[in-house]
Amino acid sequence: SVPVICVDGPTASGKGTVASAVAAALGYHLLDSGALYRITGLAATRAGIPIDADHAGQIAALIAQLDITFTPDQRVLLDGEDISLAIRSEEAGMNASLGSALPAVRQALVQMQHDFRQLPGLVADGRDMGTVIFPLAPLKIYLTASAAQRAQRRHKQLIEKGIPATIADLRADLEARDARDMNRATAPLQAAQDALLLDNSDITVEEAVAQVLAWWEK
Ligand code: C5P
Repeated sequence: SVPVICVDGPTASGKGTVASAVAAALGYHLLDSGALYRITGLAATRAGIPIDADHAGQIAALIAQLDITFTPDQRVLLDGEDISLAIRSEEAGMNASLGSALPAVRQALVQMQHDFRQLPGLVADGRDMGTVIFPLAPLKIYLTASAAQRAQRRHKQLIEKGIPATIADLRADLEARDARDMNRATAPLQAAQDALLLDNSDITVEEAVAQVLAWWEK
């Protein structure tokens, strides 16, 4: 069977960076499940569909029509158009979070996520990788970091991309998003019972990656 390593945790905990470095180190595939929710939010917005419970069925139907490609150099294409930057804005994150609270939307993305599980293995980054999508995965990491650290990390990422933002606004945004992710009825953000907790507040990316690889080798 194909091994899966799950990396779950709140917004800007460093999941994406750690997951992609672990995948590279092991030569495994990478699933950025948050990108699927971001693409969904973008596609719904472009189609003029409000992201709310009344339109969940319409959004789920839209998902079935989407042509999504993740390129080897980690760009994201929607119907051939490079939307890598468009899905990284704070607004796209908020729309992703709104859509992700709708059970029909989550359901419409399940098969797509399972399809990423291919030899030689998969590192899956998200909120419910260990609890819902890959409950039998042999290694589950729950990555946390303080809100202050996470806001700073997100700020640095955006500034590097030339997207203006203030740390205070970013912290308010990520706390609002986490609260919604933790309190929704379907697949709320929480550590799987058998997850190993890794606090990423005061360690480097290299140290976090080394810890995950050490757990994997055990
Ligand atoms: O990880 P990222 O910030 O890209 O995720 C965007 C949003 O998508 C999250 O705030 C969350 O609401 C949602 N999400 C989710 N389940 C996942 C991954 C992301 O609900 N597995």
